[in-house]
Amino acid sequence: MNIDRRKFVARSAAGAAGILMGSRLKGMSAPVRPEEQEDVLYTKPGKYDLMKEVMKYRKIDTHAHIYWTEDSPGTQLDYGRRLGIEKQVISRYLDVMPGTPDQFRKFNDLTIKAIKHYPDHLLGGFVLNPAYKQESLDEIKRCADAGMIGTGELYYQVKINDPRYYPIIEKLIDLKMIIHSHAECQLGVGGYRMKYNGYKQPNTSIPEDFVDIARRYPEGIFQYAHIGMGGDWEYECKMFRDYPNIYVDTSGSNNAENMIDFAVEHLGEDRLFFASDNSYYQSVGKILAANLNERQKQKIFFDNYNNLLKKGGRGVDGQ
Ligand SMILES: [Zn+2]
Repeated sequence: MNIDRRKFVARSAAGAAGILMGSRLKGMSAPVRPEEQEDVLYTKPGKYDLMKEVMKYRKIDTHAHIYWTEDSPGTQLDYGRRLGIEKQVISRYLDVMPGTPDQFRKFNDLTIKAIKHYPDHLLGGFVLNPAYKQESLDEIKRCADAGMIGTGELYYQVKINDPRYYPIIEKLIDLKMIIHSHAECQLGVGGYRMKYNGYKQPNTSIPEDFVDIARRYPEGIFQYAHIGMGGDWEYECKMFRDYPNIYVDTSGSNNAENMIDFAVEHLGEDRLFFASDNSYYQSVGKILAANLNERQKQKIFFDNYNNLLKKGGRGVDGQ
């Protein structure tokens, strides 16, 4: 029997209240009998085999990272295998300033080494810094030749809608590659307001920057990183509603209830990409817990992203 969690809680609570009420009606002198207490405590939700549900869906983790540590990517591949994640799109985000060509080449080398080592499980995303135009364009070519599929999580050196990004984005459009960038959208008292207050790099992209660049390049495919990062995901989803070339990835270690449902309601079921940002079990759980049907979950876990990969001849089944 399939029963969603909200109904289960409601029914269990109703059942418990009924039993307690029944006891009271019998008179204050009649305490709840042990077998009645057991009914209260062990009302069963029906059969739900969690791991069967987890393994039912093909999955591409569209936002994961590789680290400099020795256990990476081995440990994360182990997590992935146990959760039925076929592929992880990894990158090493450029969390250094100023982010010189030497630095981004070194970061991409780490990713290239990993995808060559685990070609069946890893897909590579490259990073760059548009402040170095020619070196970034050269790096796109080098990384594409090495088999990488698009950008990894681009970082905070330059805002995504800065004119220095234009030649980079035009090149990525030519190559039919997905443009994936970090972004933030802070929660604040009295409503959303990004606060570049010393803790944030001043060029960190925000939802408005994505809207700006998506309008300028309607043929670009933009992946807005981690709606589960802890920011104002309601604002993000509302902001992107009318821009069909902005996709959101569901990663992040924050798992507010209703986040996925809200995103589907505002963006439609074709514009979400499953992703972990290395929070693996949470990332799968939040999709399974959403009030979506099997087909919708399969789209988010796998099809939406793979269909875009196919446009560039990079589909995971060889199309
Ligand atoms: Zn990020």
